[in-house]
Amino acid sequence: MVERILVVEDELVLRETLTYNLEKQGYMVSAVANGNDAVTLAEQENPDLILLDVMLPGIDGFEVCRILRQETNAPIIILTARDDEVDKVVGLELGADDYLTKPFSMRELLARVKAQLRRMRLLREELAPDEDDTTRDRLSLGDLVLDTKRREILWKGELVSFKPKEYELLVYLARHTGRVLSRDQLLEDVWGWDYVGGSRTVDVHVRWLREKIEEDPANPTRIVTVRGVGYRFEA
Ligand code: CA
Repeated sequence: MVERILVVEDELVLRETLTYNLEKQGYMVSAVANGNDAVTLAEQENPDLILLDVMLPGIDGFEVCRILRQETNAPIIILTARDDEVDKVVGLELGADDYLTKPFSMRELLARVKAQLRRMRLLREELAPDEDDTTRDRLSLGDLVLDTKRREILWKGELVSFKPKEYELLVYLARHTGRVLSRDQLLEDVWGWDYVGGSRTVDVHVRWLREKIEEDPANPTRIVTVRGVGYRFEA
């Protein structure tokens, strides 16, 4: 399967360099120069990965990221030019999967792209096992039912909607019920991140999940905090 990459970059030279190098690696590349086109094209082409510049004419990369995150769980790698943009990428819960600071080497970029695509393939296998393995399609844990085939989650018999990352995290936690999972492990397996400071992302997503599937989010019994380490999912 040829993987599709959407490149969003307004600088012509960089856009063409990225396109050229990614195509040389065998990816199918679509490139656009502004945020509006990015949103439109992402909806039409459903890319496997998105490279997204921050400073764009029209709606900026942050806003594009926020919009796309609601619609796709394809990895989004942000391309930033300034340190304060990095702070924003890391600090705000934009749902980006990784970022690169300009200037970056093409080798570094290709490595990150490859890592994200690999992570998605593994995750897909984890979340959607073989067709005949029906026992893994539906996980019933008391008042919580996860149907990974239909990507649906029921809590107390009601369908609950989740953002893509929330969904992935919850399924991952549920599949590792009873095990202590460190923030780093969750980051690596669910986000594919390995940089310092990223673990706050895990905490924020856990907080969101608790609001959706805990009787009393302030005193969780489902996603339990393991002090100093991370979290444990209770059946
Ligand atoms: Ca730019």
